[in-house]
Amino acid sequence: MADDLLKKIIAHSKEYGFIFPSSEIYDGLSAVYDYGQNGAELKNNIKQYWWQSMVQLHSNIVGLDAAIFMHPKVWEASGHVGAFNDPLIDNKDSKKRYRADVLIEEFRAKYEAKIAKDVEKAQKKFGEQFDKEQFIATNPNVLRNQAKIDELNARFVKALNDNDLVELRQIIIDNEIACPESGSKNWTEVRQFNLMFDTKLGSVSDTANTIYLRPETAQGIFVNYLNVQKSGRMKIPFGIAQIGKAFRNEIVARQFIFRMREFEQMEMQFFVRPGEEMKWYEYWKEFRIKWHKNLNLGDENYKFHNHDKLAHYANAAVDIEFNFPMGFKEVEGIHSRTDFDLGRHQEFSGKKLQYFDPELNESYVPYVVETSIGVDRMFMTILSAAYKEEVVGETGETRIVLAIPPALAPVKIAILPLVKKDGLPEIADKIFDKLKFHFNVIYEEKDSIGKRYRRQDAIGTPYCITIDHQTKEDNTVTLRHRDSMEQERVSVDELINIAHEKVSMAKLLENLL
Ligand code: ATP
Repeated sequence: MADDLLKKIIAHSKEYGFIFPSSEIYDGLSAVYDYGQNGAELKNNIKQYWWQSMVQLHSNIVGLDAAIFMHPKVWEASGHVGAFNDPLIDNKDSKKRYRADVLIEEFRAKYEAKIAKDVEKAQKKFGEQFDKEQFIATNPNVLRNQAKIDELNARFVKALNDNDLVELRQIIIDNEIACPESGSKNWTEVRQFNLMFDTKLGSVSDTANTIYLRPETAQGIFVNYLNVQKSGRMKIPFGIAQIGKAFRNEIVARQFIFRMREFEQMEMQFFVRPGEEMKWYEYWKEFRIKWHKNLNLGDENYKFHNHDKLAHYANAAVDIEFNFPMGFKEVEGIHSRTDFDLGRHQEFSGKKLQYFDPELNESYVPYVVETSIGVDRMFMTILSAAYKEEVVGETGETRIVLAIPPALAPVKIAILPLVKKDGLPEIADKIFDKLKFHFNVIYEEKDSIGKRYRRQDAIGTPYCITIDHQTKEDNTVTLRHRDSMEQERVSVDELINIAHEKVSMAKLLENLL
């Protein structure tokens, strides 16, 4: 079922110009994708929603656009050269490669799913009288499965924290975790694998320096902390936001745009007084979940998940997980990174990265709370929630509709003359010329009106305007709503106001506060 939905989304994305495999005429490049005409629009709108909500709505946050290439020392200081590793394991029979931690997490998720199923069944059986908490606390099946999860977790977290690769493998063996492809339990040792891509800077390869493609955008912010603080006369607390490409040589990348080797991040580092980081951590947790829920993709599709293992730099970290077709997975991370990054850059560069706090009359290295979200994963949350197959009308005909949040939709309004004659295209042209300054609109006159509506449904256009013979008499058009398929007559003069009300980014942002 879930697999089915993912396959349908992948096929739909290609057919309607959202996402294509990279270099497809050469059979593609693994885990790299290109965004097509509609995908590029949706992606830009996601970035705009993020940028405006972070930078425009917060007077103490400014933007940055740092280069992808950075001095190699940056990645030594940040810890990436030494520790940006994933534990890798191979299956000897199927020759498939996996992340050992992901195999264990997926095994654990099976027990979680069993519990969820038991709860659902009981809920159906007992109806309104059902007491979920009591059920979870007393039902023998649930208790047995929970005990398995707890036991597994204890070993898993300890192995991760101790960096104990032998123990990670032993957990896989003891729990008889099999290769999802072949069912084989014939595993190799677990090895560490560094995820950074490297390349050479300079034309003569023997003397050239090895440099890395950045695996996160955050370091571009840290090394510019002082530049921005001084040139912008920023006072703590303040933030720096950035959107840009990041690269990771992921061990396994089989889930469409969920895990790519080249992807885009939207990151914001918020610099605070030492000791105040938990207050800001809570603030950003709340703000970021609100940002997601404001898109109306279904509140039940989100949950917080505290990290099993804190990264070397963090003193608190939580993921916002979304209910993807493959289950709940991370879309965004919120991390309290302490003074680790600035402290390390201070040490490695020999340059002071301190802030003089006039209220406290003292200097310190600021603490940092980070919000980090992948544009592509965000794109995938929207596709997953928006893709719908609906039966319409009595004939049992189906339509595919993408219920994309209107302000993010690639095309906001389609302008459709009912027929290609009688002066209707000319009126439609005039409407197009007015609206195009405000929104991404398209004009279409080919095919029957029904077919044109379906095409717009399939790319998620929230509104269609149809110009018919009545338009010539009373200057009104039909406004068709994508989700309800309802139609109403509205005056041509009202169109811009209506559109602003229904599809503008400003409205979406206003709802956020
Ligand atoms: P995961 O555990 O899934 O590998 P991560 O914890 O390594 O992710 P972070 O380093 O916290 O991820 O990166 C921040 C965000 O960047 C993630 O929440 C995700 O949205 C995005 N991201 C990370 N890696 C990828 C990738 N390979 N492809 C697409 N997006 C990614």
